[in-house]
Amino acid sequence: MLYLSTRGHAERKHFCDILLEGLAPDGGLYLPEHYPQVDDAMLTRLRTAYHEQGYAELAFQILSLYIDDIPAADLRALCEKTYTAEVFGTGEIVPLRHLENGLWLEALSNGPTLAFKDMAMQLLGNLFEYELARRGEQLNILGATSGDTGSAAEYAMRGKEGVRVFMTSPHGRMSAFQQAQMFSLQDENIHNIAVEGVFDDCQDIVKAVSNDLEFKRKYKIGTVNSINWARLLAQVVYYFAGYVQATETNDQKVSFTVPSGNFGNVCAGHVARSMGLPIDQLVVATNENDVLDEFFRTGVYRVRASCDTHETSSPSMDISKASNFERFVFDLLGRDGARTKALFGDALAQDGRFDLSGDPVFANAAQKYGFVSGKSTHADRLATIRDTHARFGVTIDTHTADGVKVAREHRGNSAVPMIVLETALPIKFADTIVEALGHPPECPAKFVGIENLPRRVQVMAADVAQVKAYIEQHCK
Ligand SMILES: *Cc1c(COP(=O)(O)O)cnc(C)c1O
Repeated sequence: MLYLSTRGHAERKHFCDILLEGLAPDGGLYLPEHYPQVDDAMLTRLRTAYHEQGYAELAFQILSLYIDDIPAADLRALCEKTYTAEVFGTGEIVPLRHLENGLWLEALSNGPTLAFKDMAMQLLGNLFEYELARRGEQLNILGATSGDTGSAAEYAMRGKEGVRVFMTSPHGRMSAFQQAQMFSLQDENIHNIAVEGVFDDCQDIVKAVSNDLEFKRKYKIGTVNSINWARLLAQVVYYFAGYVQATETNDQKVSFTVPSGNFGNVCAGHVARSMGLPIDQLVVATNENDVLDEFFRTGVYRVRASCDTHETSSPSMDISKASNFERFVFDLLGRDGARTKALFGDALAQDGRFDLSGDPVFANAAQKYGFVSGKSTHADRLATIRDTHARFGVTIDTHTADGVKVAREHRGNSAVPMIVLETALPIKFADTIVEALGHPPECPAKFVGIENLPRRVQVMAADVAQVKAYIEQHCK
């Protein structure tokens, strides 16, 4: 399997080459040359693999379709090391829970940082360690986080050979639990940098450092952001796991609702559907930052300015543009790299928007690819958390609540099961749960008292030079 760029660059690469890379040389995103097709017999084999051998075997079989430059025995060992009951809380790894007739929650948030990002990041940590050792190389991961990505990356990379993490975050702006989670890590290879500024300042610093090509090469700076193909690929697996749990035979369909920000999670659903997994609809749920809902309703994709990006109570979906969206648009345009480049490279850079409303391909987003969308607000979130708690005794987090709210709007009387992806546990966003329910959510036993642990964090001005100096000092 070879990988190409969404912007038409001629070069083709193998999986392990793009594993450690960010963007393609032309600024595009990597995608496989084609999506391997899963026929009825293969789907039955995957069903059996999950039920009889477990999630790790399912992951191995799906990853094998896309990775041909890691020996099978090694890849299987990496999957087995990653997806254990010990790390993810249950043998099923991603169990389904029934809410009401035909509406299910798929639990993706029982990993080390209690958000679905662990599903991909834990695998990425093991893949990085494996590939860096094989090459005899080192990597210094520089990132910016508003919460979930940074902690998932740190818990995935802690103690790994050959990897250091420098994670910037806006000082005092993450939830209390998120700060405690990240800053209590005492591992030598993990560095927390709390920047006196907002998330955009952190992102600007990361960009400035990455644009200094000499510094980047000298200090082997890399990223683990959501455009990484390996992360997306790891997420494809739980769409299969959700499907085989919700159905008994391969002629049944299911739909998924996905609380969305950067379009990574739901893009993995698009890949699974493109492989032939019987998915009816992919429902994109956004919060007040409705860039994606606007596109799927109108055909207009309009990036927001920082000042038009709302700070909401589902903060991990507070995006101004959706960094993985280009992958889907490339497929929507019939994989036309030149057109994708014109839209994402030129139109967005010049006008901050593009408009496909008059183009016949726009209708395909719903008809051929199953995409629909909806939006949820703070008031919807509170009402949904209350209602779900009152009727089912289940406390859901704010992002998952956005999903449940939008899923209900799209379910109608359909007999097709609707699976909402649970993207975090409520303890991560306790303030809003208190606002909704009048009491805090349950804290999983292993995190009780985490706020009181000693902290390892460096507070710094929003200054590129200071961050660079810190990296230099700690790369010896
Ligand atoms: C990252 C995140 C999202 C958004 O996922 P995308 O892949 O960026 O669309 C939603 N909910 C939570 C809790 C997250 O951490």
